[in-house]
Amino acid sequence: MPTILLVEDEHELARVIARELEALGYEVAHAADGLRALELHAARQPDLVILDWMLPKLDGLEVLRRIRETSPVPILMLTARKEEVDRIIGLEVGADDYLTKPFSVRELTARVRALLRRISHVQQILAEDRRQTAAPLHYAGLRLEPEAHLATLDNRPLDLTRTEFELLHLLLRNPGRAFSRSYLLDAVWGENYVTGDRSVDNVVLRLRKKLGALGDAIETVWGVGYRLTPEE
Ligand code: CA
Repeated sequence: MPTILLVEDEHELARVIARELEALGYEVAHAADGLRALELHAARQPDLVILDWMLPKLDGLEVLRRIRETSPVPILMLTARKEEVDRIIGLEVGADDYLTKPFSVRELTARVRALLRRISHVQQILAEDRRQTAAPLHYAGLRLEPEAHLATLDNRPLDLTRTEFELLHLLLRNPGRAFSRSYLLDAVWGENYVTGDRSVDNVVLRLRKKLGALGDAIETVWGVGYRLTPEE
């Protein structure tokens, strides 16, 4: 069952929330101040954090900032005043949801459930994408093993740079789809590309050369960019 870190210095409120969450099957770790919250977060790696804003030692906003330096864990903020909510949203420090006090425990558990559902859905999508992008790919005599970063053509190893490999991987995952140069820059080069799209053309030229007779399979789509001819 998911573990929830509950950070709340009002003991009676904390007791009521913890009892309700435990009744629903969650494991609850409780911290009554900001420093203890950081310790417990590091020690327990919770699936979700319920975080009060006003706390002794370290306030909720600072706890939120420090957790966010290392973790994408969903965080539900509890606030006593409306203006605090405005500050949270204004600062965009990375809370996933918030509740203004006073709230009903039922409302709190509904938010907790919704946040955990959203996270597990996103994780499924990411895991599926990782599984797909890690799978070996074949195209005519070409074989690509992304996890080993290995490419062979007619069983002979191909010496590809990281960029050439990434570009080929993208094309093999999407045969028949035309990619614009700017899309390729984002997808293959990420943030580190040099301005100007000539570098895409240069990498495609080198890649075609290395692929020999198969090089023609990377077609130029005039006015757009490039695509891999679908296999017969
Ligand atoms: Ca408080």
